[in-house]
Amino acid sequence: MGETIFSKIIRKEIPAEIVFENEMVLAFKDIHPQAPVHILIIPKTIEIETTRDIDSSKHSDHLTAMFEAANKIAEDFGVSETGFRLVLNCGADAGQEVYHLHMHLLGGRKMNWPPG
Ligand code: AMP
Repeated sequence: MGETIFSKIIRKEIPAEIVFENEMVLAFKDIHPQAPVHILIIPKTIEIETTRDIDSSKHSDHLTAMFEAANKIAEDFGVSETGFRLVLNCGADAGQEVYHLHMHLLGGRKMNWPPG
């Protein structure tokens, strides 16, 4: 279960450009940005590897906190009004690389649909 590079970022064992933190979530700049604004928002619990592991009896507060953080970060980075995309990759076909639940916040450019 669950030790990833994001666990190390939570424990501040490796550096990250942190843009928001509270008791539930941590948010930092993606190391390989795919848009002018590309922030990762993660829960501070390693037990949620993918969206498949979400359990309302344990994780509701963390999930709400992730969305609230996303809204605040979008405001802070000036993309709240222009629009932004929230992405959660789940599993191999979606391209998930890090098995610690994370939400990508992407903004600052026009997005295409369908995604690649
Ligand atoms: P995913 O493909 O949804 O699992 O996304 C994982 C994301 O984590 C990718 O966009 C990576 O660029 C990003 N990433 C991996 N390692 C780091 C790191 N040390 N600091 C910031 N972002 C990272």
